[in-house]
Parts: sequence; C-alpha cells; structure tokens
Amino acid sequence: MSTVIGLTGGIGCGKSTIANFFAELGVGIIDADEISRAITATQGIAINAIEQEFGADYINHDGSMDRARMRELIFSDPAAKRQLENILHPLIYQQILNEINQDNSCAPYTLLVVPLLIENPQYLALVQRVIVVDCDEGQQISRTMVRSQLATAVVEKIMAHQMTRTERLQHADDIISNQNELALTQSQVLHLHQQYLRLFGSH
Ligand code: ATP
Repeated sequence: MSTVIGLTGGIGCGKSTIANFFAELGVGIIDADEISRAITATQGIAINAIEQEFGADYINHDGSMDRARMRELIFSDPAAKRQLENILHPLIYQQILNEINQDNSCAPYTLLVVPLLIENPQYLALVQRVIVVDCDEGQQISRTMVRSQLATAVVEKIMAHQMTRTERLQHADDIISNQNELALTQSQVLHLHQQYLRLFGSH
C-alpha cells in the first residue's frame, strides 16, 4: 500500500487541474468527486437508495440521478441534504478504502482528492500529509462561474458552507498556489513531486 497524500481546497480553486498534473507524473489518483459521480450515474450503486428516499422524479430516464434537480432540492432543504449525504458518504468512503487497499499500480504514492478533506476526520485519517490548493475568493468565484455556468450567488453560497481560506491554510502541510498562470502551478507540482519521491518513493 503506497503513501496517501490528501489534496484539498475550496470550490473552483484548481484541485482537478492539479491532480491531472500529478497524474501525468505517474502518481495514483483517487478522486472523491469522481466516485460520487460514478455511483450516481446510470446503474450506479447509489441509484436504488436515492430513488427510494427521494422518488422517481429525481432519476433521469437513463437511470442516472437528476443532478440539477437534486442540487436545487438540497440547496433549500438541509434535511434533504443530510439524507443524500447519508446515502452517498458511506459508499464513497468504502470505495476510497477499496481503491487504497487494492492499489497494485507501481505509482510512487497516491493522491486522495477530497473537497471537504479537512472538515471530515474520517477522510483525514486516511492521509499521511495534506496539500491545500490556494487561490483568492475572487478567482474561485470567476473560475467556477465560467466552468459550471453557476450564478455568483450560488457559488458564494457553496463557499459559505466551506471552510475559510485562512482556516484551510492552517491545516496544510504543503500549499500549492494556483493564483496565477498554470505554468507556475505546474512547476510547484513538479517541485513537490520531487520532494515526495525523496520522502515516499520506495514502498
Ligand atoms: P471543484 O471544487 O468545483 O471540483 P476544482 O477545485 O477541481 O473545482 P478545477 O476544476 O481544476 O477546480 O478548476 C476550475 C476551473 O478553473 C476549470 O475550468 C479550470 O480549467 C480553471 N483553472 C484552474 N486553474 C486555473 C489557472 N491557474 N488559470 C486559469 N484557469 C484555471
């Protein structure tokens, strides 16, 4: 089992972009959002439970979860948000454990990408080190709006439920600034990777 390093950061700060840079260097990636999408896609293992709890209205014709409709519901209804989390979180956690334990790749170490890593002790316990991806709130909002076509108010509301930038940075073992152009971000990734190879390279 290789060393697992957590990668986290607020919405739209660049976690996926940075995970891709690490993947290009041969690092193993486990992405909690990707797992969440897979289990709510057609024939995903969460679909039956979602249909039972929320009704067929929340399932698309192709058998996947209606993400837009569900996002609308959980935004205005905290109890529904908890119900959905109660279905998804144990499945996501189990899948992450499986992927960590079944790791038979020759990757030097594994990155576990979780948006709310620091907020969740259960996930935090799986990692030996935490990287926080950092950029200012203005960048987070504009990048998320462009990528997801969400309104400013929606992005701000999501951010209000997340840890503040300062709080998050206090939990970092390593910080990657993704404030500027991607080439600068990529060189920080390379630098950290070389450091990690020295620390965790042989397992
Ligand atoms: P989420 O939390 O919403 O999953 P994320 O943290 O994974 O987001 P990304 O998806 O990597 O963030 O990036 C958000 C958007 O910003 C993407 O469209 C990405 O291409 C863009 N982006 C990321 N980094 C930069 C950068 N340094 N300069 C310009 N655009 C960037």
